[in-house]
Amino acid sequence: MEYTFNRHEPIPDSIVFVLILDMKRKKERILIGSENYIELRLRGFEDDNIFYDRTAPLGSLLMNFHQDTDRTWNEFGFMPFWNALHSNRWKQPELEKTGFDFLRSRFENGYPLDIYAALRISEGYLKARLPRDRNRAAEIFNIEMSEIKDGLMDWTDERIKTPKKFYEDSTLSKKAIKIDLWYPNGTPEPECVIAHDSILPIINFYHSRLLSAGLNIRKCKVCGKYFLAESLKYELCSEKCRKEQGKIKKREFDARAVENSYDRTYKNECQHWRNIIHKAEKSAEVSPEQLSKMKSAFNNFKTVALEKKTSVKNGQSSTKEFEDWIIVQSSRLYEI
Ligand SMILES: [Zn+2]
Repeated sequence: MEYTFNRHEPIPDSIVFVLILDMKRKKERILIGSENYIELRLRGFEDDNIFYDRTAPLGSLLMNFHQDTDRTWNEFGFMPFWNALHSNRWKQPELEKTGFDFLRSRFENGYPLDIYAALRISEGYLKARLPRDRNRAAEIFNIEMSEIKDGLMDWTDERIKTPKKFYEDSTLSKKAIKIDLWYPNGTPEPECVIAHDSILPIINFYHSRLLSAGLNIRKCKVCGKYFLAESLKYELCSEKCRKEQGKIKKREFDARAVENSYDRTYKNECQHWRNIIHKAEKSAEVSPEQLSKMKSAFNNFKTVALEKKTSVKNGQSSTKEFEDWIIVQSSRLYEI
């Protein structure tokens, strides 16, 4: 069903968020609308009177969450309405337009938590502007909406998508929260959970169901996408990423092999220099001045060789260039 984001008579029933998890088929179904209409839909009536009804792969709700890093929900989705409740009538249309435009854009992005929050804030505002006592109404609006918008604003991607993080870091998740189990047909299936206010119980419930089914949300090491895995050890989302990971590993291995080769050349050459200098130290034909010149030439060699080694490592010159250069350096000792 369409929803118009503008000033209108509020919907008489409150809007709820309903989640159905099918662990066997690995699906999630989410419905958003008035409780009565959702009940009818789940009993098989197909009337177009609810706002959202979609089935997606298990875990989608959590995995598609995007952190509201700029706190736009507060700035554009909540504050304009809060200010409208406190300002003169002639200022209200502009504030309402800012707020409704933002909520509409979130509603249209198709993400269920955004749709739910947009509808709840819009309806919350429309109900709050009815009573005469505006300040009191604004307070009630603030309290009711904080649970809705805070859920979207204060969660990082990592926390919402990873059950372990969710329970570890969150102060919110340690609050007592309630959720209703709902059997609209009076039969075991479908088993729904229904949220009337905060989205937190839904996320809590979802995580605990996944964990008890032995499923974990993991982030793919290669493409960065989140995916459901049966073990925390799994780090790759698909066959494609497994192949890609194999290629990355091979490239790293080859690079290390090349690095080992020119590193060995360098070490051998150093040993060669040391041997020559050692012999000279024992020889009666080499003067102390010559010896000290040889030692400083060696230090000089090491400095330049290390610079050249770095440039090979960074790909600025080739291994062959390095090896061709290094092999003739020790002959300088004989010139001293
Ligand atoms: Zn991947």
